[in-house]
Amino acid sequence: MKILVFDIGGTSFRRAIYENGTISGYKKTDSPNFLKFPDKTIDKLQEELVTAIFKEYFNISKETNIDGVAISFPGIVYNNEFINEAATLWGRYKKTLNLKKILNDRISLPIYILNDVTAAGYKISKNYKRFCVITISSGIGNKVFWDGYPLLNNGLGGEIGHINVGHSIMCNCGNIGHLGAVSSGRGVIQLANLLKNELSNYKDSSLFNQDINTFNLVNAFKEGDLFAEEVIRKSLKYLANIINVHINSLGITKYVLIGGFALALGKKYRDFLTNEILKLNPFIINNPEMFEELIILEENTDTHCLEGAGIFAELNRIEVLT
Ligand SMILES: [Zn+2]
Repeated sequence: MKILVFDIGGTSFRRAIYENGTISGYKKTDSPNFLKFPDKTIDKLQEELVTAIFKEYFNISKETNIDGVAISFPGIVYNNEFINEAATLWGRYKKTLNLKKILNDRISLPIYILNDVTAAGYKISKNYKRFCVITISSGIGNKVFWDGYPLLNNGLGGEIGHINVGHSIMCNCGNIGHLGAVSSGRGVIQLANLLKNELSNYKDSSLFNQDINTFNLVNAFKEGDLFAEEVIRKSLKYLANIINVHINSLGITKYVLIGGFALALGKKYRDFLTNEILKLNPFIINNPEMFEELIILEENTDTHCLEGAGIFAELNRIEVLT
């Protein structure tokens, strides 16, 4: 069974062919996002996206027979067919689009659409049975996987970024106090700027003499800058609290980190997060074999969403046939 798989990201648009657990024909181009086309309305941006998918489909289907199309999308997907927002792709604009129906009007094949973190989770589920995948990039989100399937309810679930964790910083969704406003890549920068005014005893830090951005914060953290370490530690206290709720409520003891920000900060970031969780959880601290594998940095994730979309299509195909 050959599936044409797409990974629509805020920045990149990837496609490949998935067959028997492997991908071929990988191609990566720019996504038609609101930054590239600042003058286009959301209708036009959605049209650009649909056109890009059709173009790839008709090119590929000239050369090879495919059995279905699977799409990993960077926003909530309702009923595996409707989408209406994707901050990294369309900014703050929203409009409901029945992507499945639009594609099925011209493609007479099964169409599978799923959220991108869910897609990455399907790929990771080949290695772990029960886990929570957490993406930390410009935003933050998660999905809990249980025996190969995500715990979701028609688009609900896996939105830890919008849990109120009790601070006074505004989230990009417009609400105050959300985890994403202090623990995502963008959130940590907001937190760093706020702490600059409060933590004057770190004035020796190079970050006090420049505008803080993701790049210089990551470098300072890796080089042992005490202010950068304090910022990351404070941001991780909020995330550790949420993970501790998952440990205690669901019993999940494996948290797989993906996303550019977490991976750029690397092993030291993982160790900081583990330490913050250990401070909260006396059960875990008494089980070294558990906490050593509690936080996992997933590497080489460039094709995870493509492969995960293929796995999702395969699973759905089997369920339809049986
Ligand atoms: Zn929010």
